[in-house]
Amino acid sequence: MTDAWSVDQHLDAVLASVRPLDPIDLPLLDAAGCVLVEDVLVPAPLPPFDNSAMDGYAVRVADVESASEEFPAHLTVAGEVAAGGAELPTVFPGQAVRVMTGAPLPPGAQAVVPVEWTDGGAGGGPATAMTPAREQWVRVFRPAAEGAHVRTRGSDAPAGAVALPAGAVLGPPQLGLLAAVGRSTVPVTPRPRVVVLSTGSELAPPGEPLGPGQIHDSNSYMLTAAARQAGADAYRTAAVADEPETFRAALEDQLSRADLVVTTGGVSVGAHDVVKEALRGEVDFRRLAMQPGKPQGFGLLGAARTPLFALPGNPVSAYVSFELFVRPALRLMAGHAGGALHRPRALACLASDAPLPSPAGKRQYLRGSFSPGEGTVSPVGGSGSHLVAALARADALIEVPEHVTEVAPGSELTVVLLG
Ligand code: AMP
Ligand code: MG
Repeated sequence: MTDAWSVDQHLDAVLASVRPLDPIDLPLLDAAGCVLVEDVLVPAPLPPFDNSAMDGYAVRVADVESASEEFPAHLTVAGEVAAGGAELPTVFPGQAVRVMTGAPLPPGAQAVVPVEWTDGGAGGGPATAMTPAREQWVRVFRPAAEGAHVRTRGSDAPAGAVALPAGAVLGPPQLGLLAAVGRSTVPVTPRPRVVVLSTGSELAPPGEPLGPGQIHDSNSYMLTAAARQAGADAYRTAAVADEPETFRAALEDQLSRADLVVTTGGVSVGAHDVVKEALRGEVDFRRLAMQPGKPQGFGLLGAARTPLFALPGNPVSAYVSFELFVRPALRLMAGHAGGALHRPRALACLASDAPLPSPAGKRQYLRGSFSPGEGTVSPVGGSGSHLVAALARADALIEVPEHVTEVAPGSELTVVLLG
């Protein structure tokens, strides 16, 4: 038996073997959550023209200079411009133009007086039979400085500026900015396509009754959802029986449409370890100094060198392995780097009545419930790697270092936050 690999050695080996997918141009909404591969420049000033920040009146500064509640400025209303308006009446001395938010600033105007600083045209000059007073005159009660309530051309972003740098993750505001500068498509690293294949002759699909000795396949649902949460386009396939030929055929079938494959089960030292049998020589099967998740397989398959993770079958082992190894690999393939590859971590004090035993020489990941306010973490369920119900109540993994054999209540530990 070879020496066991550490968690860090395995992760390093995995991350050294995968690389970001080739960039593609995607329509904006398809690029949500993706990583930008090149700087996007602002092609034309944003906003593209001076425009009103308020509903109000576009005026000349000198005309309202001495306006007050007591002595309002009386201006004739020379017209109106709505957002999208292209016909712009000029504002001559003694005049105002009614403007709506987003309307281009008419020529001659130097400032916008919000409608709240005026009588809204209601109390203006004399009405005639033909034209009601409110459209002819406006009384302004306060002065406005040059540029007041005007959003100037280029004040958000000047032409030529970097709108978003390469490496930016495209969340809703970033997509909004790309749309604002007129981009309809954007070059990004695509979402990796993941196929999840679980193995086990005992597995029945949820929704079907269980025969003797059968259990429902939970791993493929859990891991497909986890891959989607990591930002991948993930698909699950029906579980395959513990027959190397059947497994091999199912895998070949999926390989062409996958950027990464995840299998579960059949990697330990049992009599029917189908994945190990079928992929011996192509995939490295390792024992890790880790609990849960000791047996792991990883390799690059076929001419396309498609990464394949052969995860253990126990649901907790499979999930912990996914979080620690598959998720960072997927994030790297999706163009993320540095800390963005990993789940956030925190320090927390163990909240427990009794000391927790931990195996010597193995890094243990216990399931926990993290209380950020108190800075504590409580163990959820025991260490058994079949405990899916407890896993579903946990929101953190409690990391117990290799050399620790007992954790006293109150001890400070690192926790991996599952989000
Ligand atoms: P294996 O690694 O194939 O020896 O499986 C280890 C344990 O995990 C066994 O108890 C299996 O029944 C269980 N197991 C394997 N695959 C799944 C799965 N897809 N869903 C739920 N349990 C599984
Ligand atoms: Mg099995």
